[in-house]
Amino acid sequence: MQPYSPELAMISARREFGEHGGVAPSISRSATFTVIDPRTLPEIFQGAKGPDKGGCFLYSRHFNPTVSVLGRYLAAMEGTEAAMCTASGMSAIACVLLQLCRKGDHIVASDTIYGGTHALMADLMPRFGIETTFVDITSPQKIEEAVRENTRVIYTESIGNPTLKIADIPALAALCRKNGLQLVVDNTFAPMVLSPARLGADVVVYSMTKFINGASDLIAGAVCGRSDFIRDLMDLHQGMIMLLGPTMDPRVAFDIIQRLPHLPLRMREHSRRAMAMAKALEEMRVDVIYPGLASHPQHQLLRTMINKRYGFGGIIALDCGTLEKAEQLLDVLQNREKFGLIAVSLGYFDTLMSCSGTSTSSEIPAEEQRQIGLSPGLVRLAIGYTGTLEARLEQLRRAVASVLQA
Ligand code: PLP
Repeated sequence: MQPYSPELAMISARREFGEHGGVAPSISRSATFTVIDPRTLPEIFQGAKGPDKGGCFLYSRHFNPTVSVLGRYLAAMEGTEAAMCTASGMSAIACVLLQLCRKGDHIVASDTIYGGTHALMADLMPRFGIETTFVDITSPQKIEEAVRENTRVIYTESIGNPTLKIADIPALAALCRKNGLQLVVDNTFAPMVLSPARLGADVVVYSMTKFINGASDLIAGAVCGRSDFIRDLMDLHQGMIMLLGPTMDPRVAFDIIQRLPHLPLRMREHSRRAMAMAKALEEMRVDVIYPGLASHPQHQLLRTMINKRYGFGGIIALDCGTLEKAEQLLDVLQNREKFGLIAVSLGYFDTLMSCSGTSTSSEIPAEEQRQIGLSPGLVRLAIGYTGTLEARLEQLRRAVASVLQA
């Protein structure tokens, strides 16, 4: 397969200029849109004249010009026919799963996913008659065994939150094709680094709250996939985004449009620094997980899937053994060394740090956390790029030496 460059694909998308020749696009904030000819409105409702057909805009929960521009850029970046933006990553995930599954259907999901997504599948969706079996996504045998007659979807994160397990996307795609299933991949941890649709995923979802926006100042999500699937999500009678209504605000779309061009640069720097820090931690013989290290169990697999030049992502997991040690380390890293901030989320320019077991994975029961290798002492470091790398390495080394090696 030809090496894929999401960066080149993105700039090949038709560029949107603002009114009066602005280099930045205009923000189209109207909730509703007028037409000259009254006969146009019914035509839009019948789907004959939507903005996707060179026609008119109607109402901003349906389609909005500024939000559509961002969707077009994202589709180009992912190499999908279309993309739709949503108000959050969770709404993107929930709408996709509810669109693909009906009452009585079944999902096979990775056991290592964001706690909110786990809760959606384990606790909420059974209320609508949709069951999920969680499996080790690195075990082809366990995945095959979990597939049932009523299975519709295999769901995984490309790089799993928080233990950084890597999904073999081409192998999962082949399994899905064999069994008539849809492969849905959450690529929140690895924009640019991985292009799941190019590797065979049917649908790619994002929390754009993280790396894609990169400023931790808004909540946003996206769904990238085939045009017919995106159309289904927007269907007037059964479309989950259309009818549940988690619409993106055009001002949010504008902000992300302005930051998307430097996503490749940011990802390179997140990855470069994460790699240097992971190596430093490995040299100190602490228990570090980073997919760029040869010691990571799926490092070779990841090498076969990545887009060159963006590294292996900006997230490191560091197992401190106990929650007490982990909290001590966070305290020193933030309050003594000023290395980063104790906060959930990721993809910010400053380093964000949290104990996953008691925060973003707390929805996963303790016994399941143990089974998936999520130790109570696991600290997730979402590496930023402020300050010099040398100074940050010194801060990290000093903190780790004082807390974990004293
Ligand atoms: N997917 C992953 C991997 C996440 O880490 C998160 C949030 O932390 C989400 C989805 C949910 O995204 P949002 O907070 O934008 O709804």
